[in-house]
Amino acid sequence: MDSCLGVEQDLDKATSKFTALNDHSNKILGEVINQVEDLRKEISQQPPDTPLTQNQVDIIHELASSVKQSVFQLSTDHRELHATVSRVGKSIDRHFIADYAAVAPKAESFCSDTNRPIMEQAIAQHLYRQDLEDVGDSLVGEARVGVSERGSTFAQLQRCAAALAAADPAPALAWAASREHDLTHSPLLFTLHRMQMMKLAREEGVSAAISYARAYLSQHVSRHERALRACMGVLVWCTQAAPPAPPPPEYAHLLDLKALGAEAGELFLREACSLLRLAPHSPLAGAVLAGARVLPALHDIRAKMSHPHVLAAWADDELPLEVELGEEGGGYHSVFACPILRQQASDHNPPMRLLCGHVISRDALNKLAMGLKLKCPYCPMEQSPSEARQIYFS
Ligand SMILES: [Zn+2]
Repeated sequence: MDSCLGVEQDLDKATSKFTALNDHSNKILGEVINQVEDLRKEISQQPPDTPLTQNQVDIIHELASSVKQSVFQLSTDHRELHATVSRVGKSIDRHFIADYAAVAPKAESFCSDTNRPIMEQAIAQHLYRQDLEDVGDSLVGEARVGVSERGSTFAQLQRCAAALAAADPAPALAWAASREHDLTHSPLLFTLHRMQMMKLAREEGVSAAISYARAYLSQHVSRHERALRACMGVLVWCTQAAPPAPPPPEYAHLLDLKALGAEAGELFLREACSLLRLAPHSPLAGAVLAGARVLPALHDIRAKMSHPHVLAAWADDELPLEVELGEEGGGYHSVFACPILRQQASDHNPPMRLLCGHVISRDALNKLAMGLKLKCPYCPMEQSPSEARQIYFS
């Protein structure tokens, strides 16, 4: 962001200089044209073949030298402007990193016989997940990609989310209703039913909406009382007797089916993915998202990595530190780090899965174990240290 602001400053300078120069040149040119016009008019008023008076000759000389000077001034100004414009280009070079390729010197490894099929598979999978089945089929057919995930569950979820975005909650509702038992603690069903109710209120009238609410929303009253009250209140704006003033902003979005749909679509994908244990992004999208976030940090690290001491500690296929990806970037760890000792796992200190499912490093396990007993530091289930199993990452 700072980089953008830096470039913008230089760009502003160039633009304001350009505008000033434009005004200035127009003024000078206008004056010169007026003088020439006046002189022409004066001369044309005299009968033909009248010799010029000395005074007129002087005026012409004066005018010619003034025109010459103006042209010289304009070309100097233009050169200066050119310098300012080229400064913007230099500012872009200074503020942005052009050579990101240096961060990933092994980019060509995507082309190897082992990796290319994996890459193609990831692209095909991504296309299917984006509900672009035709494109995915073409890629799979032409590149002979072996994909197991055509017309996958994810594509079905995408179709539900797309319908929600188009203000149609029916497909998502059908999907969620068939998994009602698994969604008892999720706000998804409430959100979808609420949207359906508001849709009915807009399309069929308030009484249809109220009957729908009685049938499907009454079971959600205890958990969503406030939100439901807002819905009921906003129904007034769906009647003939609607108040002339629009509803307050905190209620207005309830009347906007597209806004409700977008909100519900996001929630739907999140909840459905977590229910089906699917990553919300395709592996390719996840990798690109994470990559875009870490690229600037990687570039800095790379610049500092040339020190011999650092080079010695650098394992070729992993990052020497963890990079924060923010909430949306998901949790991508380049290596397993023990949550107890805050150390990276290694061959001598591998990650161990406890009986309860929590994972800590072997050193931490040894430190926490008291004889034949171990209390998990997280859940805290009692178990024997010998029940822990080593985890291998491939
Ligand atoms: Zn545990």
